Amino acid sequence: MKRPKLSVVVPCYNEEGCLDMLHARISAAARDVVGEDYEIVLINDGSRDGSWSVMQRLSAADPHLVAINLSRNHGHQLALTAGLDLCAGEEILIIDADLQDPPELLGPMRELMHAQGADVIYAVRRKREGESLFKKLTAAVFYRMLDRITDTPIPLDTGDFRLMTRRALDAFLSLPEQARFIRGMVAWVGFRQLPFVYDRHERHAGETKYPLGKMVRFALDAITGFSTAPLRFASHVGLLLTGASLLLMLYILVGWLMGNAVQGWTSTMLVVVFLGAVQMFVLGMIGEYLGRLYVESKRRPLYLVADVAGPVKGHASLGY
Ligand code: UDP
Ligand code: MG
Repeated sequence: MKRPKLSVVVPCYNEEGCLDMLHARISAAARDVVGEDYEIVLINDGSRDGSWSVMQRLSAADPHLVAINLSRNHGHQLALTAGLDLCAGEEILIIDADLQDPPELLGPMRELMHAQGADVIYAVRRKREGESLFKKLTAAVFYRMLDRITDTPIPLDTGDFRLMTRRALDAFLSLPEQARFIRGMVAWVGFRQLPFVYDRHERHAGETKYPLGKMVRFALDAITGFSTAPLRFASHVGLLLTGASLLLMLYILVGWLMGNAVQGWTSTMLVVVFLGAVQMFVLGMIGEYLGRLYVESKRRPLYLVADVAGPVKGHASLGY
């Protein structure tokens, strides 16, 4: 089996406006470092715009390009998983379709990788241009909180933009979970991983494919996938409330002994309402884990491929 030196893997959802420029810039960057020995793997994640026809057109004209059409929108992390599964390269670059991460950094990242004998070079965002204050703020808080509650050291301010060796990728691919927080899973794999600091640009075209709902889901997958701290939190709260209720019981008993037993609708309601809220919150948290346990137990395939376009004949991973 002959592997290309480099695979560039790009998940795409409604990115028709970015694909031509993306293809041109990745091709130039790849050619600079490995000559002709590369492939570009584009994954169409059930786009509703013309992304798939653009991919077919590009792949018809460029033998380096493999385009994979998923059966529907599976979400960023699963689309990326599909690409990582199906790519064949010795080294793998993961990059977004919107050109927020400059493909031209491939050269310097690869140099660092070789100079240091690293298995993963992950790109750390120093600046983020053209993104809302809300997005930057929530991202900053999220990564710092995640860092506090996980046992896996997941690098701060790091997306999926990274260069990996085949050895690190194969290790990553051996992780079977359904709820996939890829940047955390790659960190978990270990080997020698080094940061590469860069400035993140504005989107080339279109708008973010991560609205608030998806961001929350993504964050929950990250937290539940890499930490059981919320479950421990339940027992901590329980312990704290037990202590508080002992004090309250003492107070009530003393009151009773002193003859003023019936009193305090306000305090009763406060306690009932507060405990009800805490219990619901904790139940919800347990539910998050339970739901994921259920999803994992079904062992469904992570993604389904509908069509493949490009030079699939002889492709190491696609089995043609
Ligand atoms: N993406 C995807 N499937 C989705 C959502 C996003 O494949 O359901 C891709 C998207 O096309 C892009 C990458 O994931 O290449 C990151 O998305 P985006 O740039 O919108 O996220 P942001 O940079 O705003 O966090
Ligand atoms: Mg983006």
